[in-house]
Amino acid sequence: MTCLTIWRGCMISGRSIFSFLLAPLAMTETLESPLALVAELTHRCPLHCVYCSNPLELTSRATELSTEEWSRVFHEASELGVLQADFTGGEPLARTDIIELVHSARAAKLYVSLISSGLPLDEGKLGRLVLAGLDHFQLSFQGARAETANEISGTNTHLAKLRVLDWLKQHRIAVTLNFVIHRKNIHELEEMLLIVEEHAPGCVEFASVQYYGYGLANREKLLPTRAQLDRCVKILTEAEQRLRGKTRVVFVVPDYYARYPKPCVGGWGRKLMLISPDGVVLPCHAASVIPRMRFENVKKRSLRGIWEDSDSFRAFRGQQWMEEPCKSCDRREVDFGGCRCQAFLLTGDRAATDPVCSLAPARGNVDRILRELEETKNRVATDSIGWVYRKNPA
Ligand code: SF4
Repeated sequence: MTCLTIWRGCMISGRSIFSFLLAPLAMTETLESPLALVAELTHRCPLHCVYCSNPLELTSRATELSTEEWSRVFHEASELGVLQADFTGGEPLARTDIIELVHSARAAKLYVSLISSGLPLDEGKLGRLVLAGLDHFQLSFQGARAETANEISGTNTHLAKLRVLDWLKQHRIAVTLNFVIHRKNIHELEEMLLIVEEHAPGCVEFASVQYYGYGLANREKLLPTRAQLDRCVKILTEAEQRLRGKTRVVFVVPDYYARYPKPCVGGWGRKLMLISPDGVVLPCHAASVIPRMRFENVKKRSLRGIWEDSDSFRAFRGQQWMEEPCKSCDRREVDFGGCRCQAFLLTGDRAATDPVCSLAPARGNVDRILRELEETKNRVATDSIGWVYRKNPA
């Protein structure tokens, strides 16, 4: 299960670097090192979540990077200045060499975070992952109730995740719980908070679905209504105060209701590199939706070469590419014009101002989607058939 918000919002433990990803930097500065490497170890996953942000065309097992190739990548990343490796997928635990990979990234002096559904895992293997150097475990939940979570993931896995949560308490590693929220589970927020209060993780992230990949395919059924969002903000504001000092509560607002876009991945090619299972290097996980861009592969070029000098990473760095209103906007060094992938998906123009921005010429495209949602909400909210479930690669 991939939850894309990890690259768009902030999260995690005291040792996480993601707060830096959101910090604005002057556009006149010279190119710095990336801070995080997101390693999509595989697109295989035991779950079939209807909001998965993986591309609809998944990478096959046969073309995945080998243990040795990943190991080389971790060392190149470290030499380039990367501080943190986020293992994700698909499900990173689906790699049979996952313990070796954790060990290898730790040997390269990277902070290692596992972004996982918690399956397949047993107590012994969790202990071996920690021994290999795992620093942080982000465990995802699809709801508070088994019936909801199982419908969203297309599997019967909710109870197994609760078991993993119990095991995690026995280890001295940072833990984040991740609830991806949307129209079909947002009413369970109080019950999700009960799970949080019972287990007291260092951080909990309530992440709104981002509309890429399968999330986009299921958008009509996932997008919350304005009334749901208002209720959610109230509950989470109270929870944030109640849990202060125990668990950090992070809420990532749905883009479509925001006034301004988020600084997606801290700005294109500024803070993060993502490597797909077959070695293609992307500025963000969704970038492959943008046409006419050639993304290079770690099998053919060094990470440093790609970071510093590839056409794809240079395409939207800085401000040269910006059009009005971003070009002269005071916020251009805060949000960098928003998300290029979202701009393309909602307007067909990859250089457009992100249409979730209230100043964007194409904001009407987003308002129309929200209007249609309000008109059809009663019908769609009760309809539990018709999901497009995530498939597995060959
Ligand atoms: Fe950000 Fe551009 Fe909107 Fe200004 S106009 S707030 S820079 S997206």
